[in-house]
Amino acid sequence: MKPNIKNIAVLTSGGDAPGMNACIRAVIRTGIYNGVNMFGVMHGYQGLINNNIIPMNARSVSNIIHLGGTILKTARCLEFKTDEGMETAYQNLKSQNIDGLIVIGGDGTFTGARNFSNKYDIPVIGIPGTIDNDLYGSDFTLGYDTAINTVIEAIDKIRDTADSHDRLFFIEVMGRDSGCIALRSAIASGAEAVLLPERFTSTHELITQLELGASTKKSSSIVIVSEGHKAGGAYDIAKSVKESFNHYDTKVTILGHLQRGGSPSSFDRILGSRLGFAAVNEMLKGNTRVMVGLRGNEINTTKIEDALKNHNFKLESDLLEMTKVLSI
Ligand code: ATP
Repeated sequence: MKPNIKNIAVLTSGGDAPGMNACIRAVIRTGIYNGVNMFGVMHGYQGLINNNIIPMNARSVSNIIHLGGTILKTARCLEFKTDEGMETAYQNLKSQNIDGLIVIGGDGTFTGARNFSNKYDIPVIGIPGTIDNDLYGSDFTLGYDTAINTVIEAIDKIRDTADSHDRLFFIEVMGRDSGCIALRSAIASGAEAVLLPERFTSTHELITQLELGASTKKSSSIVIVSEGHKAGGAYDIAKSVKESFNHYDTKVTILGHLQRGGSPSSFDRILGSRLGFAAVNEMLKGNTRVMVGLRGNEINTTKIEDALKNHNFKLESDLLEMTKVLSI
């Protein structure tokens, strides 16, 4: 049976990701098209607690599809992890007669959504929005495609200078627990080596790999270091490699937050639009506690619980092996 949902609120939470605005636009307009009153919650779960919930119309989301970041802002909100914080959030939603909540974010955001919907009787739909691409149930998360393209553009530029000076560059990319950005950007930029959170690579192993390149007269080398690599970040790795490997001048670049920003790629705009559209339709069908995601080229749903249980990016050993082979 279709529930009688009249008022839906949407929020973005955790790390911002390019494509969130395209998604917000789709959520708001799909709701309005279906006769639902739509609301935006500012600053993620913090906005629920602060009652920063604003009515939105079709024009509230004009001209945002091409913008990075999120017009609703985002936040990391510790208070939402407490019973008191959740109760305040629920009372604020009730006071505005909100009868459905759509959350866009990563695994932390989904953990909050799961806990909240276990406690209170309010339908919740999740949309995977994180550059990490680490949520089970969607081949791609919103923002990942733009982020990896930003990373590749930066590496290409570094390659020009590395090659001119016979340099060895260590480039640190985002991914505390997931090496997806690191591995894919290493393949796409032709990097000589990649260090991932999911697999420990010793300095000795890395040097052996770099020596192979030096012995075949490579004029530069690029090592992609995921920020979550267990032996340390790019500076630590560069230091220990430098001690026993002096073929090149060694440099370090931390790409940092530039990986989060920028105009979303066409892929992320389309993905954001599809996921936002699907999230509202699922809610209006009476679905709850599910994440909408992309599998193959189909939009489908996964229980939030399952998306969380299986959330880690599984190391694709074949791709790692391929990176080694292609960088000889
Ligand atoms: P990203 O993957 O980009 O970091 P994320 O959604 O995983 O995004 P987090 O900072 O981990 O980002 O989580 C976002 C917010 O979700 C937290 O600030 C908090 O408000 C909420 N949250 C996380 N864990 C819980 C929890 N156990 N209970 C309630 N709320 C939670």
